[in-house]
Amino acid sequence: MNEVLANSYAVTGDPEHLRVAKKFDHRAVFDPLARGEDSLNGLHANTQIPKAIGAAREYELTGEKRYHDIASFFWQRVAKHRSYVIGGHSDGEHFFPVENFSKYLGASTTETCNTYNMLKLTRHLFAWEPSAETMDFYERGLYNHILASQDPATGMMCYYVPLRPGAFKTFSTPEESFWCCVGTGMENHAKYPDTIYFHDAQSLYVNLFVASELTWKGKGLVVRQETRFPEEDATRLVLKLQKPVRLALRVRYPSWAQSGMTLATNGKREPVNASPGSYASIEREWKNGDTVDVRLPMTLRLEAMPDDPKTVALLYGPIVLAGDLGKEGMEDAKRYGPSAPQLGRARPIAIPAFVCDVKEVLASVKPAPGAPLKFQTRGVGRPRDVSLVPLYRVFEPRYTVYWKVYSPAEWEKTKADLAAAEGRRKEIERRTVDAVNISEPRSERDHNLQGEGTNEGFFEGRKWRAASKGG
Ligand SMILES: [Zn+2]
Repeated sequence: MNEVLANSYAVTGDPEHLRVAKKFDHRAVFDPLARGEDSLNGLHANTQIPKAIGAAREYELTGEKRYHDIASFFWQRVAKHRSYVIGGHSDGEHFFPVENFSKYLGASTTETCNTYNMLKLTRHLFAWEPSAETMDFYERGLYNHILASQDPATGMMCYYVPLRPGAFKTFSTPEESFWCCVGTGMENHAKYPDTIYFHDAQSLYVNLFVASELTWKGKGLVVRQETRFPEEDATRLVLKLQKPVRLALRVRYPSWAQSGMTLATNGKREPVNASPGSYASIEREWKNGDTVDVRLPMTLRLEAMPDDPKTVALLYGPIVLAGDLGKEGMEDAKRYGPSAPQLGRARPIAIPAFVCDVKEVLASVKPAPGAPLKFQTRGVGRPRDVSLVPLYRVFEPRYTVYWKVYSPAEWEKTKADLAAAEGRRKEIERRTVDAVNISEPRSERDHNLQGEGTNEGFFEGRKWRAASKGG
């Protein structure tokens, strides 16, 4: 409400609208943020982000520093400390204590609206003070959460992007499963172009590496960006100009480009006087037909859970890689309709782990020949090695983004625990004379099962039946 009323004030200039906007400032949330205190634990996450966006708007319209501090501290905490590797945050829609981050890998992580709103807030912060830190976050959320949240087969959208190892994505339906994340989702996938370029009076910021064409009427400039990024690690900018114009072209030098960015103007290498996590600038008089070639070598890297160095995610450049765990046991899984995967409808599977020192994981990940952004682990996966692909390309199978890394001794103990559980199951089976397969019509009929007022469901891939009230 504070945002929409502030926007109304911006349009009408009526101070009443600003006064009412401020009435909606939520002081219980704003006061600690203004003091630089994170009191977000337990709060409904996506209720807070729009309040921070409202504060950003109020800052822009009043210049009051308190609003600036609220919005930027909120962004710092959520983007840098409360987000998973994909740039999304929240488990079951709520903020949780980051000291226990790795306990929050549920089936209902990262509501998609939240990242929609965080990207919106990021644009405000970037407009106040351009920084690669904010745009690096934007890119992370855009490729690894937003792009990963739409089913290319149907156009339907995710509510949550579940990060529970072995979970799978579920999508909306056109008429019956229609949530907040469908509303923001329809905007999400129409907004890929809106943050590629920013400008001030004398500079053009190239924030994102997306094939696109920009027209800057005031300068008589058209910039065409030609790239298959992230499937290639380069992009080309071609400038069309009515007459020569002097301006600084500022190209984001992402923090992940640790092995060095290169720039060439009209085929000639330019010095890059910048480091990863900043903007590299070429200022000159540009002429019609000038080209700039940007190369951003990508490397593999690990990011660990903040509270557990042995729970890790893999990235290649800006792209989060997910292990493709296949579709086994998903015959009854509902991929369209539920807002979160009903994991009970899928038989549990063993989630592969890496057995080695954390420092050795990357050396065992090899590119799959001829397949951009596809990798394979070699020799460290237990019980088997896995294929890794961008999370934004996994739509049907189960997957995992986070991996446990065990020492050989820890793995032996984990295996022994699993074997003991299997032994107990077999012993029960051996002593069983007969069994009714609940909710299997034939088995129930064979055993003359009768009931009224009963209902059935799934748990860990098996069916159950229960008596409801009066049944
Ligand atoms: Zn939502």
